[in-house]
Amino acid sequence: MKLSRVVVVNFLSLIIATSCTGQEADSALLTQAIPYAGTITPAALRRQLEVIASPQMEGRETATRGQQKAAAYIIRQFRDAGLQPGNNGQWEQFYEMYADTLLTGIIRVRDKDYYFGQDFITDLFDSQAENIDADHIQYIGYGLNTARFNDYAGLDVKGKVVLIREGVPGGLPREWGSSYNKLAAAKAAGVKALLVISPHAKNYSLLSTERIRRTGLYMPGEKSTAPNMYFITPAMAADLLGKPYDDTLFDSRNKNLRIPVHVRVPIHIQLDKKSNVYRPSNVLGYIEGTDKKEEVVFVTAHYDHLGISDDHLYPGADDDGSGTSAVIEIATAFAKAKAAGHGPRRSIVFMLFSGEEKGLLGSGYYISHPVYPVSKSVADLNIDMIGRIDPAHERDTNYIYVIGDNKLSSALRPLNEMANGLTKFKLDYKYNDPNDPEDFYRRSDHYKFAQQGIPVIFYFNGTHADYHQPGDTVDKINFSLLARRAQLVYYTAWLIANRTDRLVVDLDEK
Ligand SMILES: [Zn+2]
Repeated sequence: MKLSRVVVVNFLSLIIATSCTGQEADSALLTQAIPYAGTITPAALRRQLEVIASPQMEGRETATRGQQKAAAYIIRQFRDAGLQPGNNGQWEQFYEMYADTLLTGIIRVRDKDYYFGQDFITDLFDSQAENIDADHIQYIGYGLNTARFNDYAGLDVKGKVVLIREGVPGGLPREWGSSYNKLAAAKAAGVKALLVISPHAKNYSLLSTERIRRTGLYMPGEKSTAPNMYFITPAMAADLLGKPYDDTLFDSRNKNLRIPVHVRVPIHIQLDKKSNVYRPSNVLGYIEGTDKKEEVVFVTAHYDHLGISDDHLYPGADDDGSGTSAVIEIATAFAKAKAAGHGPRRSIVFMLFSGEEKGLLGSGYYISHPVYPVSKSVADLNIDMIGRIDPAHERDTNYIYVIGDNKLSSALRPLNEMANGLTKFKLDYKYNDPNDPEDFYRRSDHYKFAQQGIPVIFYFNGTHADYHQPGDTVDKINFSLLARRAQLVYYTAWLIANRTDRLVVDLDEK
């Protein structure tokens, strides 16, 4: 595409304004980049995004069919653009994730069966499958083990089924009574299984049982080693204790109740669950460099989103369909440049992660199983939401948040600002403030690279009312803004990939 005259004029003024030789060299590099930037158009991005955020992609939730469809689509785009597979001849890097579903959840007290989701619940993620038979339980009060108040003092409950109540005695900090603290105390005491009386839950079937019968996705090695913690109704507690459960009566300070209470009662706990294995993927397209091809520049975004939930489709047009479309079009521009004899000196990996919305899982997997040595990984330019504006910029929409650019390399901001000489955004550095409560710097995939000392820039439009809502739709995307923001990333990548000096790593702000 032919260069617009306005851009040429602006760019000449930029070149004239610079003086030192390094900057002149960088300016010359940018001049070469301009014709291919023109291929990153609003129309091309719209074509991508209308597919990526379409209902047939089902919201692209990690480890679902929609995510696999999106991966297949991205691979076709990369292949058609002339990229090479980026994972040792493969387009995808697969990783394993699990989700557990409940098979059996029964607690039998004498001859009566109590059911998961009705009489008791337990967190299926934290709880292990188990099959316990015991002929007695111990009621020990609040189940606290603190310096001021210790229900476990002088007790041997190792290997036993222990019954406790929720909360803390009056006067103690409420947070002492958290499930986390009580479970830690039980674990330290060697408790076999912990039953917690929950007076507020008369009937657990009021909860969405479908949701609690299945865990979220998790990666291997994330499991706890604490005993299972079962929250039971007061009616079930009464059956166990052989008398009505009374919140006041069963207080540790009740002088009439000798705690611990030892109850002879046959109890059988059976929790069976099945682990389902999933294999989501990161998609990697590769453009080989010329004389510095061992060094690799990453241009990344995440292609997963939130899927379909409660019959609502979450299209994720901005989050992060915008970044996914941008990475495809930036890759296409670099491929065209290479075909025209302007291939990058360093190699470029265009990577679309999955698992971002589940907690940066795909990028986390990549960085612990890197295809390219971390020591040769020069930078990661990560795009997550660049097609919209946030409420703070409704009057002046010509902006982009630039995050992380000043944390590891003093050379990165000048390059991005030089690139922005062509795109002329107001670069908003607000979220570089380490004390910003939103903490966006740590909230997308680039952070996994930054933790390894790889300089990053995170390009971001901020959040808006449709963030993580079904209303994050294609019709609300500003495609001309999206195209220019993608061009900024493209120009910065071009500079990093082509300049003689590798990007220096001279700062250490994690
Ligand atoms: Zn998101």
